[in-house]
Amino acid sequence: MTRFSPTDLSPEAKASRSVPNNPNPLCRDFQPKAEPSGFWCVNCNWNRPMHDDERTRQAIAAELDRLPAGGTPTP
Ligand SMILES: [Zn+2]
Repeated sequence: MTRFSPTDLSPEAKASRSVPNNPNPLCRDFQPKAEPSGFWCVNCNWNRPMHDDERTRQAIAAELDRLPAGGTPTP
């Protein structure tokens, strides 16, 4: 099932590709991981700039709603 082109860089397309690998809601309280991974959030595993993007947050939430409980997408 492909909903987005691989070259689609919209927040919705990126969320559809990334959420199966990181099925966590984008949190509102960025906390850096220990260096050298400080670009990533210890709470949600998403990167720092995504935390300032409401459209990305909504796209991730929408993708999480599409996943079955447990976070493993059906093939
Ligand atoms: Zn976070």
